[in-house]
Amino acid sequence: MTATRKVRVRFAPSPTGGLHLGGVRTVLYNYLFARRHGGDFVLRIEDTDQSRYVPGAEEYIFSCLAWAGLEPDESPLKPGAYGPYRQSERKAAGLYQQYADQLVRDGYAYYAFDTPEELEKMREQFRTEDNPSPQYDHNVRMEMRNSLSLSLEETNVLLEKGIPYVVRIRMPEKETITFTDMIRGEVSFDAGLSDDKVLLKADGMPTYHLAVVVDDHLMEITHAFRGEEWLPSAPVHVLLWKYLFGLDKMPQWAHLPLILGPQGKLSKRDGAKYGFPVFAMNWTDPRSNELTEGFREKGFLPEAFTNLLAMLGWNDGTEQELFSLEELTEKFSIDRVHNGGARFDYEKAKWFNHEWIKRVDINKLQEAVSPLLAEHGFDVSDQHRVAKVLGLVRDRCTLLPDFIEQAGFFFQRPANIDAAAVKPKWSEAKNLFFTELIRNFELATLWKAEELENNFKEIAAANQLKPGDVLLPFRVMLVGGKFGPQVFDIAEVLGKEETVRRIQQALPLFN
Ligand code: GLU
Repeated sequence: MTATRKVRVRFAPSPTGGLHLGGVRTVLYNYLFARRHGGDFVLRIEDTDQSRYVPGAEEYIFSCLAWAGLEPDESPLKPGAYGPYRQSERKAAGLYQQYADQLVRDGYAYYAFDTPEELEKMREQFRTEDNPSPQYDHNVRMEMRNSLSLSLEETNVLLEKGIPYVVRIRMPEKETITFTDMIRGEVSFDAGLSDDKVLLKADGMPTYHLAVVVDDHLMEITHAFRGEEWLPSAPVHVLLWKYLFGLDKMPQWAHLPLILGPQGKLSKRDGAKYGFPVFAMNWTDPRSNELTEGFREKGFLPEAFTNLLAMLGWNDGTEQELFSLEELTEKFSIDRVHNGGARFDYEKAKWFNHEWIKRVDINKLQEAVSPLLAEHGFDVSDQHRVAKVLGLVRDRCTLLPDFIEQAGFFFQRPANIDAAAVKPKWSEAKNLFFTELIRNFELATLWKAEELENNFKEIAAANQLKPGDVLLPFRVMLVGGKFGPQVFDIAEVLGKEETVRRIQQALPLFN
């Protein structure tokens, strides 16, 4: 990368299913890096493998990014100057074939005509105890039917006859491939250990290996962040860069550490097994109808989700754990991404959510929670009141659905009154107190928590009661049980009529 190039990064998902939290972390690091360096964040859909294409998966990815607040600057939905942004469309525009041809011409790749049966025969023939699944590499390529083993005439005959072929890279037998990874430092590979990967398939579709290099070049990508699982493919990509465009133009690679679950690499199955989400949003596989739970539906705020993802493999060198997206943009640096696997801890994830529920802008909280309350049949038409309610109970919620329980009594009278919590200590004095309280409240002109508390305490004193003696019964009357925020705040929001009504209705239950 030369200093003058504008930073351009890309997230390049294949539309094959739900978006794993590791994928969203890749998005996040891309996004932060682009913002930090005043660059562009590109979303490119890698749909070269048509057999793995899953309808709906692409739209789902867009929705996940929108929910997480990590919208790309360029994408199939928002094309910039480097389109198309789907590899299938790029193939249709003829962007790949010429590079495959160029590689063959220059001797770095070759045509391979082998049929599936021939490939199977090769595997049988070369199988040994030490090498149970032989690969198509420099050890076997001269035994196969390809433009290296055949003469030029033989090759031309096959091409003219239209015999199907793939284009394979000719991996050097003895070459060490070295590059500097932004996270891992210098990494080296023995090229001779890799197979001669297919670059262009028989249907003319490029494979991921060719497409990623051609696209990163044409889209002027300067830094490529992707999961560690792609590290073994990196030598092939580095060679393609060297052969096609020159290493000086190659993006800087950053292979992000794996996200670990309770046992090894975090998988979708771990989620189901341990009861936590693994995908950003709910995903239903259209083939099996299997639903995999998402962080959004589980009740996470996007602010918490991005914060917890940022911390899976990164910190700013201090003890600070809570970061807004703006703060992350300021502080994120790739040098502080660790190269070891990052363990996902669901309890910690919930802690992040709880913290964000407490601190997020009340309007955002309202946006996320109101639909849940409405779904539950609560009347949320008075948004001012809803905001007040959320403000009172937010400290008690860890996941968004907790609001239904914690705030429910503001929207409907409690179905059960825990009289057993009150009865053992009930007395005639308390009866008189509440009767007087009703009268006082009915006459109140200023319906404010502070005012109500003062009146409450005065009446208690007049009845030789300590406020502590009557607070719990009062709470149980309003809420149904021994929980909830400050009781006078509750009364203020419930309003005069409703507060009085609840006292009146509960009182007989205690006698
Ligand atoms: N299409 C690849 C994937 O689905 C992208 C790998 C890369 O970013 O180079 O993970």
